[in-house]
Amino acid sequence: MSECLFCAIAAGDIPADVVHSDDRVIAFRDIAPQAPVHVLVIPREHHDNAADIALADPDLAAQLLRVAGAVAAQEGVADSGYRIVSNTGEGAGQSVGHVHFHVLGGRGLAWPPG
Ligand code: 5GP
Ligand code: ZN
Repeated sequence: MSECLFCAIAAGDIPADVVHSDDRVIAFRDIAPQAPVHVLVIPREHHDNAADIALADPDLAAQLLRVAGAVAAQEGVADSGYRIVSNTGEGAGQSVGHVHFHVLGGRGLAWPPG
């Protein structure tokens, strides 16, 4: 099994509540949701963070954003509003070192975030 948690989820070695799956990207519900809609969008291929994947594979980085938008629509928050977040580095709260976009919605979201 992969040592990377999200590589293991992408490989199907660890179960997840998957809401989108294609050849390059999967999206699944966060195990500790911070909003009524809280989905994580990840590439199947390992990249450490958003800036890295944008440099290494811009098409895949763009596909993550397309899927994030599609998930928001599918989850019914596209019109009410939603937030796409990618924490990068420990100080920003990144706890899993495989790039992921949080898609959060279904409640009012404060700005600035904490
Ligand atoms: P980060 O803290 O890196 O920005 O986001 C990692 C997210 O992954 C957290 O919101 C956390 O709740 C979620 N997470 C951690 N382990 C698992 C897991 O095993 N399954 C799922 N579905 N989410 C997880
Ligand atoms: Zn990984």
